[in-house]
Amino acid sequence: MSKYPISMAELDKRFDTREACLSYLAELRWPAGFICPHCASRKAWHMSNGLMLCSNCRYQQSILAGTIFQNTHIPLQTWFRAMWLLCANKNGMSAQNLQRLLGLRSYNTAWLCLHKLRRAMVRPGRERLSGIVEVDEAYLGGPQEGKRGRGEFGKELVFVAAEIRGKKIGRIRLRCIPDVSGNTLELSVTEEIQKGAVIKSDGWSGYSGIKSLGYGHEVAIKGDGELAAIVLPRCHLVVSLLKRWILGTLQGNVGKGHLQDYLNEFTFRFNRRSSKSRGLLFYRLAELAVATAPNPRSTIIPQHGPEDD
Ligand SMILES: [Zn+2]
Repeated sequence: MSKYPISMAELDKRFDTREACLSYLAELRWPAGFICPHCASRKAWHMSNGLMLCSNCRYQQSILAGTIFQNTHIPLQTWFRAMWLLCANKNGMSAQNLQRLLGLRSYNTAWLCLHKLRRAMVRPGRERLSGIVEVDEAYLGGPQEGKRGRGEFGKELVFVAAEIRGKKIGRIRLRCIPDVSGNTLELSVTEEIQKGAVIKSDGWSGYSGIKSLGYGHEVAIKGDGELAAIVLPRCHLVVSLLKRWILGTLQGNVGKGHLQDYLNEFTFRFNRRSSKSRGLLFYRLAELAVATAPNPRSTIIPQHGPEDD
């Protein structure tokens, strides 16, 4: 059987039972086969209750424990359809649409399901960007484009990095930052970009220390009458696509404190934009979902009470 379905119809047919979903997730979680964490035996039974039972020492390992699906009340078939919809649609999906399409009982359930999947969209230990990398910062969420202004109430600041591949864009990284100080920008550069890379920024003084951190540094200077877009065109394009997505698909509905989750989703899709198959994206997301630790509701919405998923 192929690694992933190629259509929603095939997805529904292939993952029509909880058992089918569990087998698939078990294969993704232990691609080289299950090894008992207690006795290292490779012989185990896949029980119908979602446990792997070691045939040597009888140790029981839950397939879902320690993944984003831990303790979920949503049927796995519904999770699979949510992952499919999120990957098959070029622009993803709002919680409202997901609720409607999956017939979920509440908006909150759909919203939480999407946020848990967004948290899984960053591969743990992923490689940093390399080569020549454009960097810039942008304000999101306000009515006007702005840079480094003071007191932009309600706006959130985002660090943008985009690999230069000829005239095109390679991979990108996006992260929420509290300010544009040298400390913040240096931390962003070192965490997102490989040492030895050449950083291309504008003349902002916050980048003046990056040479001493092991990076090359090119300052792009705006000529008379030139637009900022010409100086750092890749960052500019990424930010405008990001804004369009937030205003379009999400209808500007990005709650305070949740922007990083949306940035992760945008980055996941952008960095796989040339992928030939939507099914492959589904496969990658499912693979990440079993490699990502649970994010209980309380870590996503700290101010709320009981679990709603
Ligand atoms: Zn064992």
